[in-house]
Amino acid sequence: MRKPKASLTRLPSLPTIAIEVLRIFSDPNAPIQKVADLVQADPAIATKLLKAANSSRFGLPREVANLRQAIALMGKAKVTPIILSFSLASESIESEEHAAVFKRYWLRTFVQATAGEVIGSTYGPGFAAECFTLSLLAGIGQLGLLKQGAEQYINCVERAESGEASLDSIEREVYGMTHDEITLEMLEQSGLPKRCIDAIAATIPSLNFTPEDEDTIRLAEVTSAADAFARYLCDADCGLALVVFQDRLAKMETSVLTFDYVTSEVREKLDGSSALFDIDPTTLPDPEELLQDALDQLSEFTERMNGGQDHDLPDELLAENGRLKQRVEDLIRQTSTDALTGIANRGFFDIRLNELTQQCLRGQRRMGIAVVDIDHFKSVNDTYGHQAGDHILQDVASTLSQVVRANETLARYGGEEFAVLMEDIQVDGMNVMGERLRKAIAELKISFEGKHIPVTISIGIATGIPTNDGFGLPLFARADAALYSAKQDGRNRVCVDNSPVADFERVSPPIPVKSTAND
Ligand code: GH3
Ligand code: MG
Ligand code: MG
Repeated sequence: MRKPKASLTRLPSLPTIAIEVLRIFSDPNAPIQKVADLVQADPAIATKLLKAANSSRFGLPREVANLRQAIALMGKAKVTPIILSFSLASESIESEEHAAVFKRYWLRTFVQATAGEVIGSTYGPGFAAECFTLSLLAGIGQLGLLKQGAEQYINCVERAESGEASLDSIEREVYGMTHDEITLEMLEQSGLPKRCIDAIAATIPSLNFTPEDEDTIRLAEVTSAADAFARYLCDADCGLALVVFQDRLAKMETSVLTFDYVTSEVREKLDGSSALFDIDPTTLPDPEELLQDALDQLSEFTERMNGGQDHDLPDELLAENGRLKQRVEDLIRQTSTDALTGIANRGFFDIRLNELTQQCLRGQRRMGIAVVDIDHFKSVNDTYGHQAGDHILQDVASTLSQVVRANETLARYGGEEFAVLMEDIQVDGMNVMGERLRKAIAELKISFEGKHIPVTISIGIATGIPTNDGFGLPLFARADAALYSAKQDGRNRVCVDNSPVADFERVSPPIPVKSTAND
């Protein structure tokens, strides 16, 4: 290991109580009384631990009245990471100007620890507690550096974020060591067992270290996956973090662990932990918005890949023969498909709408949206049953997909509503296009369990040349308003909003030109 530079003559160290609790945690023969003594000596921690024992988060079978009981019932494996959390939480409370940075550090750490616990729990409760502990400690070098001089460390992070150089190389220049190396030093000093230190070392890519035994490898895998999850939830590069996380989950080859499962479990645990552990999960992004944000970032990567601009991709995506690159493509495909009908879903439509708006804005080209809605679908469901309804949705989707052109995007926008995105199409063409869609469905012979079910659709279309970035949304609203007119006029018809000026802010409903089944 490198010698610290002058600016780091003294390595940061863990708080005393953390070191003591880690020693107890690491020693299989340490009596539980030692934990009780340690906690008793710190009234703040004692109060919190009793609260934790009676909280829904750690739900003991019965209410406990005193510490001794709480510790005995929870057991050493569960109690030690909780005490460590209390200690690190209080280390991360700063009243000064950098309070927000410390708060963010602690929230990210706690998110990672919770994710470690959730992922690790597939291998049993003891393993989960160990994963929780390791994830609490995996970024401790950063807390150490922040404590030694917040200003200086924040400056390093900002330089890295501005793209000047990697954080590792900036840390090396300033401190002579990276925060990961400092983490390892701090943990060695605290007397953490070799297996835990090895597991954390194995999560640091630059060390290129693989532990020998299976359990340590597994600990490292969980800790890495938990880190990717925390990066997804807390850092700016959520798109990349999402594929890294999916990749690490896939490597672990457990069928129980899915992205959705980990996300909902972690969120639930965080909500139940806020008061006890001084975290505020409400500052985390909304799950749907975050996923959309990540997918937007990833679709930008796919655009670059498809455009042959691999040099513009982050190095992480290109490493390991581009395995992550392949994952980005898979993920985009998987998350952009509607499960029932196999056509694109709303998320994909929204991304394409945004992309096409930018392209048409640059080239001053015309674009159009058709919103398609099945008529009286509720009564179809009521009459023939929900399964028949699903069957119709599949038939309608596959018929529409045969009618739309290769450069048009058809998506299931929601329920029994579809949308088509068109480019370089004139108003007349829109009408023709809409009629082709309408006729294809009206003429479709759908039968379910021997019964013929007549189905029709109504279509609203709007078109325009974008005047700004946000043109897609009001265009969609105009198509939707045209659909409403088609419904009002009796259904099974096409209504085109062909108003000459594509006013961005127009609020009044369109004056439609209608074509009907009888035209
Ligand atoms: P309108 O002609 O005005 O569009 O009438 P509607 O009955 O089609 O419209 P409404 O919005 O009242 O009902 C839509 C129905 O679509 C209600 C809902 O149960 C059904 N639906 C939405 N998604 C699905 C689905 O995935 N499967 C099935 N079977 N039905 C669905
Ligand atoms: Mg309908
Ligand atoms: Mg509808």
